[in-house]
Amino acid sequence: MAQTLARVTCPNCNQPFTAPLEQVLDVELDPSAKARLLSGQVNIVVCPHCGMGGSVNMPFIYHDASKDLALVFLPMEAGRHDLERQQLIGSLSRAVMNQMPPEQRKSYLLNPQVFFTYDSLTKRVLEADGITPEMIETQKAKADLLRRLLEAPTSEARSTLIGENEPLLDDEFFHILYANLAQAEAMGRQDLVQRMLEVRTLLFEQTVLGRRLAARAEALQALQTQPTREKLVDLLLGSDDPETRSALITFGQPLVDYLFFQTITQRIEATEDETERKRLEDLRQEVLSIREEMKEQARQVVDARLALVQDLVTTEKPELLARRRLPELDELFFSVLAAEIEQARQDEEFEAAARLHEIWQLTMGLIQEQIPPEMILLTRLLEAEDIEEIRQLLEANHQLVTEPFVEILKQVEQELKERGESGPAKRATAALAMAQTMVKPQEGLVAP
Ligand SMILES: [Zn+2]
Repeated sequence: MAQTLARVTCPNCNQPFTAPLEQVLDVELDPSAKARLLSGQVNIVVCPHCGMGGSVNMPFIYHDASKDLALVFLPMEAGRHDLERQQLIGSLSRAVMNQMPPEQRKSYLLNPQVFFTYDSLTKRVLEADGITPEMIETQKAKADLLRRLLEAPTSEARSTLIGENEPLLDDEFFHILYANLAQAEAMGRQDLVQRMLEVRTLLFEQTVLGRRLAARAEALQALQTQPTREKLVDLLLGSDDPETRSALITFGQPLVDYLFFQTITQRIEATEDETERKRLEDLRQEVLSIREEMKEQARQVVDARLALVQDLVTTEKPELLARRRLPELDELFFSVLAAEIEQARQDEEFEAAARLHEIWQLTMGLIQEQIPPEMILLTRLLEAEDIEEIRQLLEANHQLVTEPFVEILKQVEQELKERGESGPAKRATAALAMAQTMVKPQEGLVAP
């Protein structure tokens, strides 16, 4: 459907080979498609004869329904004449439409934008995100500044760089820094992590934004150490940065209740100072409106899930629609759906209830499809009746019993023991012992 097998002739050794190539990149069906496109990873092949790798100039269509984008990449060499090129465009947009429920098809799909170079197509995708070429340049400059800061040999050299480039040291710069920090930590690059933390400390001390971020982190830390209503009021009064106050309220949400507002009211009544009273009253107003905003956002998410349930009931192709909206099939979706089923039963709308129940089975099935088979095997092993069942499960699924699986099993065994769940822990121990012999046949044994 989205992929096709094509004959490719290697430009290096001239030998033909078959490679899977993408013709349809649909962001809704395949969320990583956008990242692949933007990083130039679409239709990259490696010649099996000489090992030469590169991109294949094959036409493809890029579709992002959330932005009404249908873009066709049609390199100059595709199609011998105009008619053939028109037919190519037509067949690509049909391929996208065939994957969609009829009521979601829109007219822009009939008339996709055509691009002759890969570069111009990716620029259009970025433009639809509101990203201009200037913004890309600035982002590059920020990444480059981070690199220079990390390479600078001394604190003095770093301070100079910071002083000279303060306009670049904004929220986006901190995002880049934190993303790099997380990556370095994940790769276990302690040297790099150390240098990044040093740079961060300097930024916290020497830039306006850095000082604000440091104060925010400190306030949140203080609330975490002492999660009381009194402390939350003190921290809110002590911060002159609205974003920090908003973060405190979000983080301290469980504390923002009737008692919390009573605490503020008591302080208002207790003070003689007019300015102090005004500050407390403003704070009460601010907390109320932030809390209202948070509630409104939560309401909107529930409404969106409810609308999805309705769409699934009315569409001709519920499975297609459900697959397209997979990320929205979350816990909230299922609780909304369960409530709808219950309501329909109470109202004795049995037909509607049956229809909703079908949607339940369909969506649950899709969720279970997403669970890796190894996880299903693991669950069944831990629930097994006896050693014999464990042995049968492992043998029936021997292709899943690999080194990584054994590693996971080890961790699970450890965790179960630590949590004192002796039954499942025993089954994990038995499964582990058997799985280990399956992965590594004992060496040195001579066949009889
Ligand atoms: Zn080759």
